[in-house]
Amino acid sequence: MTTFSPTLFSAKRYAVVGLGSNGLPAARFLRSMGAQVVAWDDNPAVRAAAQGLELADPTQYPFDYDALVLSPGIPHRLPKPHPAAERAIAAGVPILCDVELLFHAVRASGSRARFVGITGTNGKSTTTALLHHILDRAGIPAEAGANLGPAALSLPLLPHHGVYVLEMSSYMLERLAEMRFDAAVMLNLSADHIDRHGDMAGYARAKCAIFDRQRSHHLAVIGIDDPNCRDIAAWLDTKPAHLVRISGAAPGLTRGPALPGEHNAQNAAAATAVARHFGVSDDAIASALQTYPGLPHRQQCVATVDGVSFINDSKATNADAAERALVCYDRLIWIAGGMAKQGGIEPLAPLFPRIAHAFLIGRDAPGLAATLAHHGVPFDIPGTLEAAVPAAFAAATRHHAPTVLLSPACASWDQFTGYDQRGDRFAELAQALSPTHLAPTHLAPTHLAPTRLAATPSRTGGA
Ligand code: ADP
Repeated sequence: MTTFSPTLFSAKRYAVVGLGSNGLPAARFLRSMGAQVVAWDDNPAVRAAAQGLELADPTQYPFDYDALVLSPGIPHRLPKPHPAAERAIAAGVPILCDVELLFHAVRASGSRARFVGITGTNGKSTTTALLHHILDRAGIPAEAGANLGPAALSLPLLPHHGVYVLEMSSYMLERLAEMRFDAAVMLNLSADHIDRHGDMAGYARAKCAIFDRQRSHHLAVIGIDDPNCRDIAAWLDTKPAHLVRISGAAPGLTRGPALPGEHNAQNAAAATAVARHFGVSDDAIASALQTYPGLPHRQQCVATVDGVSFINDSKATNADAAERALVCYDRLIWIAGGMAKQGGIEPLAPLFPRIAHAFLIGRDAPGLAATLAHHGVPFDIPGTLEAAVPAAFAAATRHHAPTVLLSPACASWDQFTGYDQRGDRFAELAQALSPTHLAPTHLAPTHLAPTRLAATPSRTGGA
């Protein structure tokens, strides 16, 4: 039992719609396991790249599939259901995500490998990568993936004592049917992706699906640092799973150099709780926290020029995430903007006094500018990163600010293919700056950003 059998799904028929970073490996995997697969993407260029698959628009034929595997980025309900989802719902065909199918494939292969699901509005990728690192260091066969990438259906078959560590977005969690997580983690919950879930209650409902079907020998980990999660903790008290409450504010938490800030203490506490559940000793956990290398685009120091540190926190796509970074620096130049989330940057107002000057980019710069103006924060609207980075460097020198922070508090899709492209561009521009040799030597960074070593994870969207 080391690989999946090529006849595992031979009696099954699937429609796979959306052939991106999740859908394409899913379609290929299901086919290689013997299933009949009809694959489709509305974008002809994406279809053209999907070689070797049977391509047909499933909405044009009778919808007689065992399941519709719909890319997490494609809505089945709000803001408007995709036609394939409408057909599936009308025909009573389940709409599933690839994680559900991985679960079936692993169990059908006779493996009792454990599954960990990690969700929350922020910190999912960090906690997923961190837990994977701890388990790996402890000699437990472990694979990390799903929303973080690689896609669930490109992960190998693990043995009984193996652990899948899966980052779960709300979009994926809505598409589970029988999957149960041996350990399920909800880190925190704040407003995000309301367009897809209708309202905060809908978003919370989708997220809470991570705890569905858990039994008494399973572990439920809940962060209690926000009111939404405290309510969920009270609800989990009535459920059978063993419940562990975690907080980033708990005293005496061990953390490593790549885990700055209270938010990372929350991530470390969650990973620690799950690792303990799988029998990893506290000593082994403590030493793995020290060696965790971190992930790119999360408070990553990408350049230091004339004593000014350029911090790439491009992954901060909402105000809550940006707050975690802003709080780490006493005096900074802030680059923000893109496609703003509900509430904009108003929640960051208590941290505005730390900002010597702000530079705004992207579609919603005017709206963010209005908030800054209202609070008396000096700003410019250079519009693009290309203009913002040199301007921010000049301002850092002028204001004796030791840090230029890109922590956009906005999605990137208006100007970039994703947060990773935005962060990479920021790094390139910062690294291309020439020292002026004018900067005084006292500009030492107030926050010592760690070196990040891990590869850029590819993401499928959703939180
Ligand atoms: P996700 O995968 O949920 O988007 P990441 O681990 O990629 O989260 O972190 C994204 C950003 O969110 C980080 O750069 C940081 O600013 C912020 N962040 C990380 N962990 C937390 C947390 N536990 N609580 C709040 N914000 C966090």
